Amino acid sequence: MYISDCNYHRPKSVAETIEVLNSSDNAAILAGGTDILVEIKKGIRQHSDLVSLSDVSELKIISEDKNNVYIGTAMTHNEVIKSDVICKFLSCLSQACSKIGSEQVRNMATIGGNICTAASCCDTAPVLLAYNASIEIVGKGGKRTIPLKDFFVFNKKTTLKQGEIVTKIIVPKPAKGTGVHYEKFGLREAMSISVVSVAVNITVENNSILNSCVVIGAVAPTPRISKNATDLLNGSNLSDLKEGSEILEKIGQAASNDSIPIDDIRGGAQYRRDILTTLTQRAILSAIKNIK
Ligand SMILES: Cc1cc2nc3c(=O)[nH]c(=O)nc-3n(C[C@H](O)[C@H](O)[C@H](O)COP(=O)(O)OP(=O)(O)OC[C@H]3O[C@@H](n4cnc5c(N)ncnc54)[C@H](O)[C@@H]3O)c2cc1C
Repeated sequence: MYISDCNYHRPKSVAETIEVLNSSDNAAILAGGTDILVEIKKGIRQHSDLVSLSDVSELKIISEDKNNVYIGTAMTHNEVIKSDVICKFLSCLSQACSKIGSEQVRNMATIGGNICTAASCCDTAPVLLAYNASIEIVGKGGKRTIPLKDFFVFNKKTTLKQGEIVTKIIVPKPAKGTGVHYEKFGLREAMSISVVSVAVNITVENNSILNSCVVIGAVAPTPRISKNATDLLNGSNLSDLKEGSEILEKIGQAASNDSIPIDDIRGGAQYRRDILTTLTQRAILSAIKNIK
């Protein structure tokens, strides 16, 4: 199957990308192409203009300052995995990227493409939400920064407007005493799309959970923060959070209650709820082990 005829653009900067995007009302950004080209070939979408990010070097930088890590959206998953800054401050993101597709997919596909596709089963969003990430969006009218949690509207729907581009992901550096973990459940070891996923971020002080975030993926139209699981986890005593403990089981159940899964070929709704209950508990115990 071939893609239909379209104009191919290779701008050299974000400013030029925005200019090209706004010169047509049916232009789309092409990053690694692992989602968009598949959809074009399947006839799910059509574009008169494809605007490649391959020459936009400003989007291929990972940097840090005192408080944050900044990830250019055209960084591929393999570049994120190998980044020293990511390994040092956001090692859970590196682990999530390493669970995506195959080596070939990770060499092409970008972190920006992963969040902009906005599939509820995508692997980077739960971890970025758990890290309380924001994104910078640039368009004709200028720049805005929004919390990532406000970006996702529905499965494959975001608040991004035609002619805009997501330029960077801004992630606060975790505080001392923080542990983060991502659990992905798929139907096979490799090349597996999440059937259920959970990311947990906890910060501990004096043996109790000062702050936490439990994010559930592939069990609702968007990756979402489980408010009830997070509320139960906040203030819990570390010594109570043991395998099989009442509070841990309650938190797992709360995450499951916050889900609205669908039945599809990868799993039924009740199956996803049951997996989510267990996966949440496992992610919490692993996040505790990861505390630095
Ligand atoms: C075989 C295979 C296996 C896969 N396995 C997984 C998996 O395990 N986990 C997973 O999460 N995903 C998986 N995917 C999906 C896909 O690889 C990822 O979502 C990937 O990160 C998409 O990135 P991309 O650069 O290829 O995006 P593209 O396909 O280039 O773009 C995707 C969408 O985002 C838009 N876009 C891209 N960058 C920007 C930007 N900077 N600003 C605004 N809009 C932008 C595009 O216009 C398009 O709408 C798989 C795909 C394939 C083909």
